Amino acid sequence: MTVGKRHLEGHRVARVGWLRAAVLGANDGIVSTASLVLGIAAASGGRGDILLAGSAGLVAGAMSMAAGEYVSVSSQSDTERGELARERIELAGDIDAERAELAAIYMRRGVDRDTAQKVAVQMMAQDALGAHARDELGISELTTARPLQAALTSAATFTGGAALPLMTVILTPVAQLIPIVAIASLLFLALLGTLGAVAGGANIGRATGRVAFWGALAMALTAGIGRIVGTSV
Ligand SMILES: [Zn+2]
Repeated sequence: MTVGKRHLEGHRVARVGWLRAAVLGANDGIVSTASLVLGIAAASGGRGDILLAGSAGLVAGAMSMAAGEYVSVSSQSDTERGELARERIELAGDIDAERAELAAIYMRRGVDRDTAQKVAVQMMAQDALGAHARDELGISELTTARPLQAALTSAATFTGGAALPLMTVILTPVAQLIPIVAIASLLFLALLGTLGAVAGGANIGRATGRVAFWGALAMALTAGIGRIVGTSV
């Protein structure tokens, strides 16, 4: 549901929700698919095995991302809805106490008693539930959770991310597969980290380094396991 109206054009906060889901999805897609590909390649699998494992990983990962995001964002949205319902009951029950509660919140933020009471009265005259949702519960239009949007964003960006190492496998000779997929995937990850940092207005070096570090670690581990398991079976 929509609580109050805010104009946040030009502010980056408004983009952080879907941006977080998008970067996370693409990042997971690249890391998990590249790791799978390297694991199978290190176990001396052929291009067919590698593509099969990578494609299965793409579908499984996209579904798991979508389900995970849907469940987690839904429970957040249930919590918000529950809190709003309780607030609505409180407002219907004792409007004076609610007005005093809101005024007290403004006073804690540094507004003097007289002004705080006036602000509380005027805000509640216009949209009592909206004022309590924002200033008491911290729920605004901006933070209102959208489960389906989050699920679709994650699944789509995971698929986009996973497609990059898979395309690299198709275009690379099998003999050079391991170093080329590893390097290309690290470059994709670094690029993604940079894009995310630029769009979110964060520090580029730190974001890029973080993403590349975890990607390198995941690929090294799965390649190592592929080597060990592949030579022992
Ligand atoms: Zn209240």
